[in-house]
Amino acid sequence: MPQEKRSFQAEVSRLLDIVAHSLYSEKQIFLRELISNASDACDRLRYLALTEPGLIADDPEIKVVLTPDKAQRTLTIADNGIGMNHDELVENLGTIARSGTARFVQQLSGDQRKDMSLIGQFGVGFYSAFMVADHVEVVARKAGEEQAWRWTSDGKGEFTVEPAEKAGRGTTIILHLLADATEYAEPVRLRQIVKTYSDHIALPIRLAADGKEDTLNTAAALWTRPRSEITADQYREFYHHVAHAFDEPWLTLHSKAEGTLEYTSLLFVPAAKPFDLFDPVRKPHVKLYVRRVFITEDCAELLPAYLRFLRGIVDSEDLPLNVSREMLQNNPMLAKMRGQITKRVLSELAKKAKDAPEDYAKFWENFGAVLKEGLYEDHEHRDQLLPLMRFRSTAGDGLVSFEEYVARMKPGQEAIYTITGDDLELLRKSPQIEGYRAKGVEVLLLTDAIDEFWMPAVGAYEAHALKSVTRGAADLAKIGDAEKAPETRPDTPVGALASLIALFKLSLGEAVKDVRSSDRLTDSAVCLVADEGDLDMHLERLLKQHRQLAATAKRILEVNPRHPLIARLAAMVDKDGAAGELGDFAWLLLDQARILEGEQLPDPGAFARRLASVLERGLAA
Ligand code: ADP
Ligand code: MG
Repeated sequence: MPQEKRSFQAEVSRLLDIVAHSLYSEKQIFLRELISNASDACDRLRYLALTEPGLIADDPEIKVVLTPDKAQRTLTIADNGIGMNHDELVENLGTIARSGTARFVQQLSGDQRKDMSLIGQFGVGFYSAFMVADHVEVVARKAGEEQAWRWTSDGKGEFTVEPAEKAGRGTTIILHLLADATEYAEPVRLRQIVKTYSDHIALPIRLAADGKEDTLNTAAALWTRPRSEITADQYREFYHHVAHAFDEPWLTLHSKAEGTLEYTSLLFVPAAKPFDLFDPVRKPHVKLYVRRVFITEDCAELLPAYLRFLRGIVDSEDLPLNVSREMLQNNPMLAKMRGQITKRVLSELAKKAKDAPEDYAKFWENFGAVLKEGLYEDHEHRDQLLPLMRFRSTAGDGLVSFEEYVARMKPGQEAIYTITGDDLELLRKSPQIEGYRAKGVEVLLLTDAIDEFWMPAVGAYEAHALKSVTRGAADLAKIGDAEKAPETRPDTPVGALASLIALFKLSLGEAVKDVRSSDRLTDSAVCLVADEGDLDMHLERLLKQHRQLAATAKRILEVNPRHPLIARLAAMVDKDGAAGELGDFAWLLLDQARILEGEQLPDPGAFARRLASVLERGLAA
């Protein structure tokens, strides 16, 4: 097979362009990236060798060897991991498969300074080699295959692939260093970089220089070492490696379970939101090891989906080494581990929430909406989850817990009041909360789609029902000190109000379920609410958006008897010929309430005609 010339995927070319022109100060991270890839490749080989020992029989000592050559100005990084065949070379080194990197490229602005700071957050994997080399050769042979392949590129749009000779399996990367990158052919410099960034790598990283080879790193899986011997920097570097992340871990949890089950877990909560957090797949990201051998990163049974923001590893002493990924389903040992680890993580979060509330608020902004999924998925841990919840509320700008809410409840208040919507600022202005605010009754403002689902599942917190202020009667009369209560006596005579309401009902007909006087309004003239047994209005809108619901239930129009407009309208009721005009008002008020809900008007034309006619009459008077 002759040499093939191919073009990089457009995204790769853009990435390479930035890397090549980068003034990125931390060029040395290229080595961490390449060693990290080598380590992943060795992990994958070890896993395959569990069932196919022949794959490593001829060369069982798995390692990475760095060979600097000052005279040639090259650095060679060789691993005897899984290797790559022709198609894998083309695919893995010619396109961007990893979602994080793809997202990185999408975010590139063309502004070099901004783009450089992005690189710091994402890392660019293999392509970082072009920060220090103007020519990169990769010679790879896949474990179990005979043919080796050479991939080469100068990082300028194209690469070549051709058959090659290579003695054993694995991947050898030869970097032809740039004139200003000769330091990476210095043994001393390599030693220092490996110690800083790659000490935690579980396989030996060896330096071949001056006729001898020695190991640069500790080469024991980081999690097997005692906590007291691991520095914060080492934990962070391990996190970067295992999570493909570049932020600081927000929380690091390293613990060893010894009992009926023996396992070590080293888990991290990221400080930044990972991009796939709300993907419907809800992919797990904690790697499962069995006695230091990597098994899978894709084990949905290891942790509940609502903890998918966790990164890190769990290393079991008890699972059989030859465990297949299929065997992991419905495995009782795994289920037990999941329970224990979940409990542990939740109790650490509770500690943070208590001891460092401001720090916890940062976690909550990133992952609160995900944690809420646990409320309806995980009955077993619901009691542990409820105290971790935080909400925005009418009481201020900060976050509130259930506990704080309950402590602030007014005399006579039994329920925890909530309102759901898409936008916090709009929720704060909802007419439905006016009466609650006037009485000093706090309302939780909920803006995560998931809120509509956990609330009905949970129902109550410590016997205080969760009650939507946009559904059913407001029952505000029972709450608060009667003497100190704000003036609630209607300005509208009772009889006139009843007639007005009757007339509104008649005019609106089938457009509403009912019209009634409201005690939840103070400033607004009208609002819409759902009937007690119907779906909450926001949920209904959500379901409609997702085409889960064809028809909407009819709403109740509530009118504010204390509002001057309603009082004036009520005073008109008995006048001759007022019925037609009041009918227009009924429709206008209904449409106004719909607009306040953020809903589309069913007939904007009719709304405009009525508004124009009412305005005109107002001017004529
Ligand atoms: P990532 O490591 O995040 O997947 P990289 O750009 O670092 O992204 O690497 C791209 C892909 O190239 C890897 O996912 C892997 O499939 C392949 N690869 C890179 N280096 C090696 C290696 N030393 N051995 C085997 N495969 C490798
Ligand atoms: Mg990588």
